[in-house]
Amino acid sequence: RSYKRQTLCRFDIDRLNAPFLEIFESLIPTEEEKAKQKQLLTLLENIICKEWPEARLYIYGSCGNSFGVSKSDIDLCLVIGEEDINKSEILLRLADLLQSDNLENVQALTRARVPIVKLMDPVTGISCDICINNVLAVVNTKLLRDYANIDARLRQLAFIVKHWAKSRGVNETYHGTLSSYAYVLMCIHFLQQRRPAILPCLQGMRATYSVTVENIECAFFDQVDKLQEFGSHNRETIAELVWAFFNYWAYSHDYANTVISVRRGSTISKREKDWTRRIGNDRHLICIEDPFETSHDLGRVVDKHSIKVLREEFERAAEIMQYDANPCVKLFEPYVP
Ligand code: ATP
Ligand code: MG
Repeated sequence: RSYKRQTLCRFDIDRLNAPFLEIFESLIPTEEEKAKQKQLLTLLENIICKEWPEARLYIYGSCGNSFGVSKSDIDLCLVIGEEDINKSEILLRLADLLQSDNLENVQALTRARVPIVKLMDPVTGISCDICINNVLAVVNTKLLRDYANIDARLRQLAFIVKHWAKSRGVNETYHGTLSSYAYVLMCIHFLQQRRPAILPCLQGMRATYSVTVENIECAFFDQVDKLQEFGSHNRETIAELVWAFFNYWAYSHDYANTVISVRRGSTISKREKDWTRRIGNDRHLICIEDPFETSHDLGRVVDKHSIKVLREEFERAAEIMQYDANPCVKLFEPYVP
């Protein structure tokens, strides 16, 4: 494998900006869709508040972190104050209430890794999953959204990377490839590393927001309106960044020794995290540290086979960005086995 191969950016890279921006725009949810999401959220809040007046419903995942493409499902988290509740009982009760309110395909998955109720709203056509007391997900959603509000290029890059990953079949954790959440963290880390940097490291700055969840202190600078000029010294365009992102993951990232860390705003060594060898099912073949659950490697789903698939896809994308006359088409061609 040609580790650290040097390639020059293509000379006509700026020609690709308009088509990439066009793809980005086409993926953004419309105002109409966002209104429908709000409408469904209000309906659910009304149902829930009658049964659990103290509870609150939070949006997490792509509808809340601003990395949601059009037609995404909504991820919701019901936060019920009490510590020792029986999640299954609540989910089953919730499923009953939803069913009586004419929501469709209502299903309580009480034995899943993250137990949820699924539902579909026939009025808006939107599907939604509701989990319980998953507050860390609500907090990491805020972190991602705050990063997105610093520099517009993050959202553009992440939409394109997510769209690529879905088209190429490498956004499937149950097949050993990476979650959307992991891809967004890869994009944030990448923009923290540009010189000049396009994104700061919010967790490395004075904390203006701080909560403790499951004994984890989640603290970071969240006054992002004060950081609007942060990336302005770097004039790289979306086409250059897409090119460099794939080039980084194809040829420059040191898979053997490093972990990417948004929390630190840099890479850190696997040795420092003790992620150097396989423990149980955690192989650490590509290491992406969760910003808050720092013992958690989001690359742990990746195995011996899927790391190969993933790296070949990064290389394919890098080659296309380098040589193809029309990369915006070829990059997103569906993967056919
Ligand atoms: P998509 O558009 O593909 O639905 P998404 O942003 O909803 O993307 P998911 O990967 O489905 O992304 O994750 C939903 C949310 O769940 C994330 O935003 C994150 O808050 C949380 N999450 C997902 N995976 C993990 C994980 N392994 N550890 C911690 N939180 C996670
Ligand atoms: Mg989702």
